[in-house]
Amino acid sequence: MAGKGMIVVLLGPPGAGKGTQARLLTRDYGLEYLSTGDILREEIKSGSEIGRRAREYVESGGLVPDEIIVEMMRQRILAAGGRVLLDGFPRTLPQAESLDEMLEKESMKVDAVIEITAPEDLILFRLVNRRICPSCGAIYHLVNKPPKREGVCDECGATLIRRKDDEESVIRERLAVYHEQTEPLTAYYKGKGVLHTFDGSLEVEQLRRRIGEVLDSISSAGG
Ligand code: AMP
Repeated sequence: MAGKGMIVVLLGPPGAGKGTQARLLTRDYGLEYLSTGDILREEIKSGSEIGRRAREYVESGGLVPDEIIVEMMRQRILAAGGRVLLDGFPRTLPQAESLDEMLEKESMKVDAVIEITAPEDLILFRLVNRRICPSCGAIYHLVNKPPKREGVCDECGATLIRRKDDEESVIRERLAVYHEQTEPLTAYYKGKGVLHTFDGSLEVEQLRRRIGEVLDSISSAGG
C-alpha cells in the first residue's frame, strides 16, 4: 500500500474554496474525499453516538474534541486504502501529530498539504451566500453561482440548504478558531517541507490547474 498511497491535506479558513476544489481534485486523482465537516453533519443527522457527542460543538462553531475526531478519521483513512484528500482534518496540532503517528504505523505519510488562503471580506461574502446540496454535495453561491431553479440542485434535483453554521456570528467564531488552532499547522507542515500555499480568490479553474501541477509532480515522484 505504501507505494500507491497518496495523502493530501487541504488547509485554509472556511470559505476559502476547499470544498469546491476538493470535488474537482478527487475526480482528477482518484482520491477518496474525507471531509470531517460533512462526516460530522451526517453523523448528527443520523443521530449516531458520534453525532450526539459532536452536535453542540458543530452548531456553535467550536471544535469537536480531538479523541472523537482522530478515531473517526483513522478508520476512514484505512478503509480508503490510504488514497485520500483530507478536508477539515487535521485542525489542531495534536490532531496533526496523531495523524503522523497513525500513518507511520502503516508506512505512509502526508504527501502534500494544500493551503488555500482568502481575505476575510471575501470569506464572509462567500459563506453568507453559500447554499449546499445535502444529497450530492454540490456547492452554490446565490450571487456568483446560483442554481438554475431557485432552491433546487442542478445536478441531482434535491432541495438546497443553508448550513446552520453559515450565519455571520458563527462564521466569525469559526474564523477565530481557525486563526487560533488551525493556522499554526502551516508552520508545522512547512517544517516538514510539504506545504504549498495558493490564493483562494483566484477563479476556480485557474486554482484547480495550479494545485494540479503540485499533485502531478507528487504522483510522478511517488509512483
Ligand atoms: P467544516 O465543514 O470543515 O467547516 O466543519 C464544520 C464543523 O465541524 C466545525 O466548525 C467543527 O465544529 C467541526 N469539525 C470539523 N472538522 C473538525 C476537526 N478536525 N476537529 C474538530 N472539529 C471539527
